[in-house]
Amino acid sequence: MKTQKLTLTLPGKKVEYFLGENLLPVLPKFFKKTNTPAKILIIADSFVHKLYGKQIEKIFKSSGHHPEFVLISPGESSKNLNQIKNLYEKFCQLKISRNTSVAALGGGVMTDLVSFAASTFMRGLPLILIPTTLLAQADAAVGGKTGINLKQGKNLVGSFYHPELVLLDIQFLRTLSQKEIRNGMAEIIKMSLLEGEKGFQALEKASEEIQTCGRKASEEWSKKIRPYLYAAVRKKISIVEKDPYEKNERMILNLGHTFAHGIEAAGEYKTYSHGEAVAIGLVGACLLGEKIEKFPPEQTRRVEKLLSKIHLPIRYKKLNPIQVFDQMALDKKKTETIRFILPKTIGKVVICDKIAAAQVLDTLQMLKED
Ligand code: ADP
Ligand code: ZN
Repeated sequence: MKTQKLTLTLPGKKVEYFLGENLLPVLPKFFKKTNTPAKILIIADSFVHKLYGKQIEKIFKSSGHHPEFVLISPGESSKNLNQIKNLYEKFCQLKISRNTSVAALGGGVMTDLVSFAASTFMRGLPLILIPTTLLAQADAAVGGKTGINLKQGKNLVGSFYHPELVLLDIQFLRTLSQKEIRNGMAEIIKMSLLEGEKGFQALEKASEEIQTCGRKASEEWSKKIRPYLYAAVRKKISIVEKDPYEKNERMILNLGHTFAHGIEAAGEYKTYSHGEAVAIGLVGACLLGEKIEKFPPEQTRRVEKLLSKIHLPIRYKKLNPIQVFDQMALDKKKTETIRFILPKTIGKVVICDKIAAAQVLDTLQMLKED
């Protein structure tokens, strides 16, 4: 299948997204076309580098480019100010200037961290994203968010900064763990709920084929998931274009995330991964949507069925609903009440700011597996 191209158009900038297989040779060509200097710095997740570093180096070298690699340990704990300082120092040492491209190679941790460093060093370096997890390809690498964590909270420091180019290369997906696949699937399912009945039904129909638990991610699977990844990226681009700085419309991307952040935090980010928490959070949004927006209960059942098919959780265990509620209240940004994105029907959501605590707690009770 041919490489697909999507463009995110912003005032004064166009970001190109290429989706396909074995896309890395695009990079040297891109540099030639845009007259980018041969120097490129690739900041990579060290595990991803182990898997793909040699291959990448070969592609660059064959076209006369000499990439320099900086390796970062995998995991959320690398998204900190210290790493940013290390990266700035490395940039100085390598005499990086505004016409040196910096590329991020890895999952959401790498795209968030490197994008932040690139957005702030010399007020902005040209940035290329090469996301390697399904979650990063479907979500983190689309829309220009950057972020690092403080001990007071996740993603408390960040900016909006768009890359020049994003390579969504499905070849990377073949080495993902089942857990990583499920994480990405949760965001793809979320996006299909925003997309509408057609996109959601397509996923329902394909769910048997794409459910991969118990098997290893494979070439065949990465090809199967491609149309749904494309649909998710296209939908996210269309939402971001309407509201690049998350002032209104873009908030709908947080569907399921108010509950998810509470669940992740209550489990101290160990009990549930982001994708698992989003899956439970989507069901939470449906149940609360039933109460507030007359979301049809049979549609909640469909959402639960699809998530379960992909082996994502639809209820939480062990956590205490009051604890989850408290974390959700802590997570609220700027507003007095907790903000929810609630579905009215599949494909239509509303932003709700004023929901009684009792209704939220009631939903959290329903979300707890007994
Ligand atoms: P996310 O994209 O879910 O936010 P991270 O950036 O934390 O995730 O990456 C999750 C884990 O997956 C890390 O341990 C990372 O090293 C690993 N990883 C990233 N990309 C790949 C890949 N293509 N194949 C195998 N493992 C990968
Ligand atoms: Zn998310």
